[in-house]
Amino acid sequence: MTVRPAPSPEFGLIARYFTRPVTRALLGVGDDCALVHCGNEALAITTDMLVAGTHFLPDTDPHALGHKALAVNLSDLAAMGAEPAWFTLSLALPGIDDAWLRPFAEGLLALADAHGIELIGGDTTRGPLTISVTAAGAVPPAEALRRDGAAVGDDVWISGSTGDAALGLAHLQKQIVLDASNAATCLERLHRPQPRVALGRALRGIASSAADVSDGLLADLGHILERSQRGAEIEFERLPRSAALRDCADQKLALACLVGGGDDYELVFTALPERRADIEAAGKAAGVPVTRIGRIVEGEPVACLLDAGGKPMHIERPGFDHFAA
Ligand code: ADP
Ligand code: MG
Repeated sequence: MTVRPAPSPEFGLIARYFTRPVTRALLGVGDDCALVHCGNEALAITTDMLVAGTHFLPDTDPHALGHKALAVNLSDLAAMGAEPAWFTLSLALPGIDDAWLRPFAEGLLALADAHGIELIGGDTTRGPLTISVTAAGAVPPAEALRRDGAAVGDDVWISGSTGDAALGLAHLQKQIVLDASNAATCLERLHRPQPRVALGRALRGIASSAADVSDGLLADLGHILERSQRGAEIEFERLPRSAALRDCADQKLALACLVGGGDDYELVFTALPERRADIEAAGKAAGVPVTRIGRIVEGEPVACLLDAGGKPMHIERPGFDHFAA
């Protein structure tokens, strides 16, 4: 299968209207975080917005939502190898509802405390429920895990496994019925993603590029390829998959979730083959499995999925785009 991440409507509009050269910043639009100078270190800065009806169902548990609003930003810091430091919180709320606000704040601040990131400001207004977090973390500038560093011959790696969150969403939307245990696993991954902050840190100076998987494995790998101007071959058989995906009665859906489902918040990254042992050690130290799934090749910035015989495969729905038809 071939996947061309750009020009998609979402990224097309960002490229057309909001991408400008930067002079004071180290890195502007187009990576998981921007990078700016801060003494001898770089500050990695990211913003992510969650909108009711678009990113979560209106009846989502507020405690989980508080967790997720920060988790998606911590995931972008992880993708740069940054150490979380501060965040701000902007809220549009339809009204003041203590029964919602209390668990939301608890979920948000429990994750903040777990990662030692401090809430330092924000904005609050009335409006349709929208949660926007801006987070910053520090990383030595030369060791930041950018998307543009993948080189021909590098291995491609993925942390954990992909597809469970999308499968959980399919279950919620009644496209499929999972058994109780698989449903619990997938819904936990959908609602309480665990950002791979420790792994991102451990990959400093080892990985040549990285991105977090928020829009689907092949779509986010596509962002690395686009920025690095390289291709990739991904061996389908090597892709790690959970018991829930393996057990799924609809294997066509399972496959689409595996390579194209969003909301996984794993890290996809590249590194020289000489670094394999270092990467295994980084995964062990961070307590996250890491799996080698393919390699970077010369050519168009496209991810090619290969079957067991090495033949290209075709799979529908490569990733999520907010403005796709
Ligand atoms: P991620 O999924 O890692 O959070 P996005 O896909 O949301 O990243 O965004 C891709 C890139 O475009 C990022 O570098 C982000 O900062 C930038 N970006 C997104 N929206 C805008 C905007 N309205 N103006 C400027 N930059 C933007
Ligand atoms: Mg990201």
